[in-house]
Amino acid sequence: MAEDRLRELRNELDEINDDLLSLLSKRADIVQRIGQIKQARGMLTFDPEREKEQLDHLVQQNPGPFSDGAIRHLFKQIFQVSLGLQEEQRKLLVSRSRTTVDTVVSVKGIEIGGGKPIVVAGPCSVETPEQMEKVGAELQAQGILVMRGGAFKPRTSPYDFQGLGEPGLRMLKQIGQKYGMAVVSEIVSPNDVEMAIQYVDMIQVGARNMQNFELLKAVGSTRVPVLLKRGLSATIEELIYAAEYIASRGNEKIVLCERGIRTYEKATRNTLDISAVPILKQETHLPVLVDVTHSTGRKDIMTPVAKAALAVGADGVMVEVHPDPTVALSDAKQQMNFAEFESFMAELRQSHMIPDLEA
Ligand code: PEP
Ligand code: MN
Repeated sequence: MAEDRLRELRNELDEINDDLLSLLSKRADIVQRIGQIKQARGMLTFDPEREKEQLDHLVQQNPGPFSDGAIRHLFKQIFQVSLGLQEEQRKLLVSRSRTTVDTVVSVKGIEIGGGKPIVVAGPCSVETPEQMEKVGAELQAQGILVMRGGAFKPRTSPYDFQGLGEPGLRMLKQIGQKYGMAVVSEIVSPNDVEMAIQYVDMIQVGARNMQNFELLKAVGSTRVPVLLKRGLSATIEELIYAAEYIASRGNEKIVLCERGIRTYEKATRNTLDISAVPILKQETHLPVLVDVTHSTGRKDIMTPVAKAALAVGADGVMVEVHPDPTVALSDAKQQMNFAEFESFMAELRQSHMIPDLEA
């Protein structure tokens, strides 16, 4: 008899479980619909006040025998998994799942990501008008469309050359204009962004600042293209979230740049994570460049490494070029001189990895 009663009650419980499950699924469906509205409105998923309101209401309605604490605990669990659901469905603005169309970033009319690989070249640092004049003429002769040059240098030692600052940006702009090239330069402080966009066509966020969130927000508030470099010890996911910071402020003109990461390997300055290129292309719709200079730190392997980067789908490469690297104020060892740069370009062209000069 007692056996029968037990079975009966258990059957009843099973039915209630089924009902609870069906109610939970119904609830989850509504949670997802709310999630969509929150995302469209740019709202955060977690709303502590709304959660408190619901819990207080439930406790007030609690008929027992569960204690108020138990009810709070139970529903807190339901809220938590529901929030998880909203997080999961939230698609990042930079995510590939948003669009199958590749983003093409136009830098002063020069397209990055449009299927025509680009070489961004220039000195590590802007040093003197004479140096920049020589670089400008050389890059133009080599068909370079985007010139780089650092004016704010994030150096390891405070006693090393820190860059010329605003006068350096002015010099970069002048040479860019004279030789018909767009210019990109690193900015390290959010306070300098407004000033910098008077001079540069693209703002570089350097590896050391990839998670300087205030800087990311500041460049995200402009509508100037951003070259975002991967941090020295950043995961691919962290790089994507850094890009999302910029995009979330309304600036989707973002070019990602793999520049090597810290590993135990000493043969190269950093370890170029070549697999990051196809992964970033797969996970995001943004163009991807590879900085072959800072990743390898070695001129002797720059050409094959650049070919590898382009072969795995990079939209271009970045290299450092200096008229006389031996006297350069930063990165003297790794910058190419003009002869080296010319053979680098010739090799890439001969192997059809970049367009011919006339093209
Ligand atoms: C640079 O490109 O000038 C530079 C400093 O590179 P990174 O931030 O990748 O070290
Ligand atoms: Mn450098």
